[in-house]
Amino acid sequence: MKNLFTLAISLVTLTASAQDVAITEDDFLRGSITPERAWWDLTYYHLDITVNPETKTIKGSNLIRFKTLEEGSMLQVDLQPPLYIEKITYQDQELAYKKKGTNAFHVLFDAPLPKGEEAEIKVYYAGKPRAARRAPWDGGFSWKTDSKGQPFIATSCQGLGASAWWPCKDHMYDEVSSMDISVTVPSNLMDVSNGTLTKVEENGTTKTYHWHVDNPINNYGVNVNIGDYVHFDEVYQGEKGPLQLDYYVLRENLEKAKKQFTQTPMMLKAFEHWFGPYPFYEDGFKLVEVPYLGMEHQSSVTYGNNFENGYLGRDLSGSGWGMKFDFIIIHEAGHEWFANNITYKDIADMWVHEGFTAYSESLYLDYHFGTEAANAYVIGTRKNIKNDAPIIGRYNLNKEGSGDMYYKGANMLHTIRQILNDDAKWRSILRGLNKDFYHQTVTTQQIEKYVADHSGLDLTAFFEQYLRTTDIPVLEYKFNGKKLEYRFTKVVDGFTIPVKFWVGDAPVWATVGTAWQSTKVKGDSATIDENFYVTPKMVK
Ligand SMILES: [Zn+2]
Repeated sequence: MKNLFTLAISLVTLTASAQDVAITEDDFLRGSITPERAWWDLTYYHLDITVNPETKTIKGSNLIRFKTLEEGSMLQVDLQPPLYIEKITYQDQELAYKKKGTNAFHVLFDAPLPKGEEAEIKVYYAGKPRAARRAPWDGGFSWKTDSKGQPFIATSCQGLGASAWWPCKDHMYDEVSSMDISVTVPSNLMDVSNGTLTKVEENGTTKTYHWHVDNPINNYGVNVNIGDYVHFDEVYQGEKGPLQLDYYVLRENLEKAKKQFTQTPMMLKAFEHWFGPYPFYEDGFKLVEVPYLGMEHQSSVTYGNNFENGYLGRDLSGSGWGMKFDFIIIHEAGHEWFANNITYKDIADMWVHEGFTAYSESLYLDYHFGTEAANAYVIGTRKNIKNDAPIIGRYNLNKEGSGDMYYKGANMLHTIRQILNDDAKWRSILRGLNKDFYHQTVTTQQIEKYVADHSGLDLTAFFEQYLRTTDIPVLEYKFNGKKLEYRFTKVVDGFTIPVKFWVGDAPVWATVGTAWQSTKVKGDSATIDENFYVTPKMVK
């Protein structure tokens, strides 16, 4: 009896801890490179859909072209309910398929495809796509209307997955090399998607807008935006030559947009300086008004920040500098370099997108308003850091880490800039990342190694500390006669970095590790340069 009771208790405990880390079949199918994904490499999509605003339904197809890396006969395609597949064809024959979990399908070829073969399947689908609950964070289709009652529709799906509205290989590690997007809408409306508008077909009561993306694109970057848009444009003379800038806004906001969007060339000036050429010249750059805050859709950045500076009119840093720019123009466009050019393979490494892009806000200020402004801004954003969970999430499950990936990520990068103490080199690393990982999907390890190798710093423990723990290094310091003594606590093994102290007006550099060390100084009080994201602690 006693034994049975013990057994019952431990089963309850087991169940409880298993729920903590509950992994479902759906998580695995969505978040990992399953065997049914691994054997083929995406090359091209043609998404072709009709959007019906009245019934809030879509219908169409996606052509999926790929090259086989191994022989295979079963392939995974993702599409989330309530959307449903009508049929899947290969060489004009219908293929069999079976549902796997909630959102995945295994498509079966009659005979195995040999290794090294180019093939394509077409997935026909239809239905009422998931409506966005809180776009862009909890996305799907936003079905809104403008002030005149005209439909105003947009998609957003980061994290949730593009399979919320179109059938695809819904994992970030693999990208097509190019894509076509054809969207049919009522003839009084316009669709703006990614890339360049190549053709508009008139079909009576509807129009079809054909967009071509000439570069690799990740799934969540693909978007449709439908409204009674007006258009204006300009050409920016950038590092790679003339860059076409197109702006699409609701008719009623044209004048406000013409004023606010003058920040686009300013953004390009700053980011091309720090990060190198805009990564998608062939596709142009667009700002597209949408009925939600905004998203980094590739070459088609969506905008809903009320045509005013700040983040919905607020300064996220509290320093005042956050009101000097339109947060959505600067932040979402910063993602063209870190998210669209350099893309995470697994959302667990989302800091590669958000850490660098939150940091880009500071670099924008640096370029136009000076380093003091940039420093004040990024330091100001520390108040948003929670240190609740590590920045890096859980791999193979489509699970992102803490929201600290934004401002802790930014302050971590800002701290590396201080440690390096060589802005020309720092800039060459940021540009080098965008050149050497051009149009690639990456892991955090690749980024960590690149920054370490090119800075000449051993950053192993440093990255471990900031990305994989919730502890901020505590820098203890004290005076002993004319000696400044210092050490770190609450750090991982081997955490040692150069730190800048101020003794009076004089900067004093010291390499600080976990053991007490000292430097002779002229003075008996010191402060730690506040650009270093550490917790200073004066001890007796
Ligand atoms: Zn972002």
